[in-house]
Amino acid sequence: MAPIAKAMIKLNFCSLSSGSSGNCYYLGNEFHGILIDAGISATSIRRFLKNMDISMQAIMGVLITHNHTDHIKGLEVLIRKTGIPAFTTQKVWKSIPGPQKRISSDCIREIRIKEKFHLAGFDIEAFPVCHDAPETVGYHICYGDKKITIATDLGHICQTAAPYIRAANLLVIESNYDEEMLVNGHYPHYLKTRIKSDHGHLGNHQASAFLAENIGDNLKHICLAHLSKNNNTPELVLQTLQRTFSERGIILNGQPKISVLNRNMPTGMIRLI
Ligand SMILES: [Zn+2]
Ligand SMILES: [Zn+2]
Repeated sequence: MAPIAKAMIKLNFCSLSSGSSGNCYYLGNEFHGILIDAGISATSIRRFLKNMDISMQAIMGVLITHNHTDHIKGLEVLIRKTGIPAFTTQKVWKSIPGPQKRISSDCIREIRIKEKFHLAGFDIEAFPVCHDAPETVGYHICYGDKKITIATDLGHICQTAAPYIRAANLLVIESNYDEEMLVNGHYPHYLKTRIKSDHGHLGNHQASAFLAENIGDNLKHICLAHLSKNNNTPELVLQTLQRTFSERGIILNGQPKISVLNRNMPTGMIRLI
């Protein structure tokens, strides 16, 4: 067997936690793994990985999307305890408050938007998304012919992000809030405005409409992510998606598979190879 084929016999994705209280995602191949964001405690990350028989030594890096606490809460301790490097743009790193990054500069790897880099067998590209934090990015990650796109915080799907989202075989996309729950809920007006804005979060109808309009044969698995604790439920996410699809005559026959990611615990491992 040629070395390249031998390497591509395993590709797994798992959300350890997804939502406004903390985000951390794992992607692993036969040899190594990477994390996307570290918005839960280092202890939880270690425990969740151990429960799946994944050793911390296998993790070769953490990709950072932006500076919001729900994406970096566990980063400092994780890096200090393990020495795992963080991959981040200079602007995102600069925007993280000092007390949350008392980390040796040896552990920081600077990346640039739309400039591919190689890590742990993966080809990775950060792409810009519209969100109210400096230089927020999504990640497009390739392994052999498999493509994974992760876009968890975005007020709308802009032209720069859309091609990466359309290209995915496995797509992790935000479905943060039910529009009616948000409007009728107890959040102050400024916060409702922020969430609904083009640089806030993606609502159930927005995510569903984009998917209905852009779904292609390449898309094998959709993970609906970053649900709000107060303005959404997994049932509403699925209902909205199913209704939007059926209104447009799209019938889902088990393809693509659809998962709604848990807010505080891992969602079962997805095997892409
Ligand atoms: Zn977030
Ligand atoms: Zn955010």
